Amino acid sequence: MRKNSAIVKPKRSRATIQASRERRRLGPLSGSAILDVAAFLNRYHKMRVLPKQGWDDDISAVLFKLPRSGAIVVGINAAHSPERRNFSLAHELGHLVLGHRGYGVQRRRPGVEREADRFATEFLLPERLLRAWC
Ligand SMILES: [Zn+2]
Repeated sequence: MRKNSAIVKPKRSRATIQASRERRRLGPLSGSAILDVAAFLNRYHKMRVLPKQGWDDDISAVLFKLPRSGAIVVGINAAHSPERRNFSLAHELGHLVLGHRGYGVQRRRPGVEREADRFATEFLLPERLLRAWC
């Protein structure tokens, strides 16, 4: 039997590790809630966020790269609540930093979507902060 075998830390996923790395960009504010993901994307990733009207409700956001400039742009469904838009933008950031190919609608790749959701959850509310607040 190994020493300290009763203490088992859960293995951190690739998504949670990347989310922690992104949060560290905030320096002393990394322990705070991220209330404006659009501002984060613009400041730390030079990404533009374009609110889009008239999208179907089941489309939250679409990440794409402009062919000429290579700039990365996120279209976000303007009809959704600010909280949902924040989550959707964090989800799209997850696709980017996790190296998921084929930006855009990923409905046929549920594993990729779950990983981006895991990233967004940890990015917006890290488990260590949640535990500290409870
Ligand atoms: Zn997605």
